[in-house]
Amino acid sequence: MMDAELVLANGRILDGCGNPWFWGDLAIHKGRIKAVASAGTLKGMKVIDAGGRFVTPGFFDIHTHSDLSILVNRLAESAVHQGITTQVIGNCGMSPAPVDENYLSEIRHHWGRISEAPEVNWEWRSFDQYLKVLQSGGLAINLAALVGHGALRIAVMGFEERRPTSAELGQMQGYLDRAMKAGAFGLSIGLVYPPGCFADTDEIIALCEVVAQHGGLYASHIRGERETILEAVAEAIRIGREAGVPVQISHNAPKYGAPCDATANLALVEEARRSGLDVTVDNDVHTDLGPALMDALPQYLLGREVAEIVSLLKDSDSRKSIRDEILLDRRPAFGPAGLLKHGRWDRITIFEAPLNRGVVGKTIETIASDQDQDPFDVYFDLIVEMGDEVYAIYEYIDEKNIRILLQHPLVMIASDGQVLAPHGFLNDPPPYYPCCYGEFPGVLERYVRDESVLSLEEAIRKMTSFPAQRLGVMDRGVLRPGACADIVIFDLDRIHDRATNLYPHTYPFENYPHNFPEGIDYVIVNGELVIEEGQHTGVLPGKVLKHQIMP
Ligand SMILES: [Zn+2]
Repeated sequence: MMDAELVLANGRILDGCGNPWFWGDLAIHKGRIKAVASAGTLKGMKVIDAGGRFVTPGFFDIHTHSDLSILVNRLAESAVHQGITTQVIGNCGMSPAPVDENYLSEIRHHWGRISEAPEVNWEWRSFDQYLKVLQSGGLAINLAALVGHGALRIAVMGFEERRPTSAELGQMQGYLDRAMKAGAFGLSIGLVYPPGCFADTDEIIALCEVVAQHGGLYASHIRGERETILEAVAEAIRIGREAGVPVQISHNAPKYGAPCDATANLALVEEARRSGLDVTVDNDVHTDLGPALMDALPQYLLGREVAEIVSLLKDSDSRKSIRDEILLDRRPAFGPAGLLKHGRWDRITIFEAPLNRGVVGKTIETIASDQDQDPFDVYFDLIVEMGDEVYAIYEYIDEKNIRILLQHPLVMIASDGQVLAPHGFLNDPPPYYPCCYGEFPGVLERYVRDESVLSLEEAIRKMTSFPAQRLGVMDRGVLRPGACADIVIFDLDRIHDRATNLYPHTYPFENYPHNFPEGIDYVIVNGELVIEEGQHTGVLPGKVLKHQIMP
């Protein structure tokens, strides 16, 4: 028998399905796993001695927003250094395709600053064209794409706050059908963001019926993750049942202001499964988020230009009505906005403020008491002063819920991050985004090794075979002969997430700016070494995966 190209020898092999590790060798040939056998039995042209380190499937990150940042950093540095070999893009209703010429400026606005990167030239229009742009420049990791409902709506009706006509709904279905034929894995939605929040349940069911025809997935950032979390989970389940699609509930930790802990939303998911509906959940393990201060404004403002929002905030009558809208929260705004609604200004720390360095590192509560001002006015005045250039860290998730979700068998582990790099456009200025660098090592370090919240086998299952199966990618996420050779070798004793800052935050942050984790020594994508002895090799063996029922 011919020797394999590469053998990973003498490792503790974890298959990704939750089984205990065993001492073994693993042979790789032509991008696939050729053999998995007892230690000391396999021969290869090149041999890497795992030396008792863990050998597992590459991490399969089912919830990311790398759609445009991967064009800027095709090496996928922040992802591959943490052991990720496949990312799912197009989440929360946001995908950069399809694009209609008449609404190009709207979709660029939707994507914000990344839209202006030199590598993001918006040359594509159809979903198929976008996937070709992704593949043609080379990728260090694999990508699987969802179609964003926001992109469909923008392509047909911009940010209009109304129901689509039946002709418009038919156009959205047509765009979705073509994207599914091009290889999309399903439809995602963001029901707290414009324009997703303007859609009613019937509109979503009508679109999910198209997804069902292609055997795809419905991934939902539900309609409010705070006060309305249980109604919102129930809506997602109803959509799955009526359209006949499996449902993925995205990052489903209750956010500040929720009436219950995560056991309540998980109970609804369990009940739906007992009745035969395939519903699953993902979550990340970070308790904070670092968006622009203005991202917590009511949705009807967010599709508008910054200058227009600033002029509204300067006018005392419209300032008052915006404040009333935040407090009423009639159309549930995204999670962090709950801190404004409930007056938890002590949990909002200014992170980036180029025109007013003196406020950086202070909470809005502290600034308000220093200046003897109302915190709401401090919040609005900072936006008036700096527009979309002022960012804050919102501390809005109770870590207890993260632990409940980690321990539940129906919950997979995702980052909700995106590809970043500690240099260039993606680091200028460096955003607060620790999940992009530390999500998976952080889980292994803290929740598996140090605090035993879940077992290593279970954590790896939630990072590999479970999300791959969820997406219908049956030849990844497992270590079996014939499977694609996406593999990580790591040292659990040395694993260290160097990007996460624990709450309460102390400023300046010890783990900022961006740092790669330690202990992830080798990462193999489609049989090629992308990380070797902790260093990126620069190769681009990643593939754009296409949803197909029969290859
Ligand atoms: Zn989301």
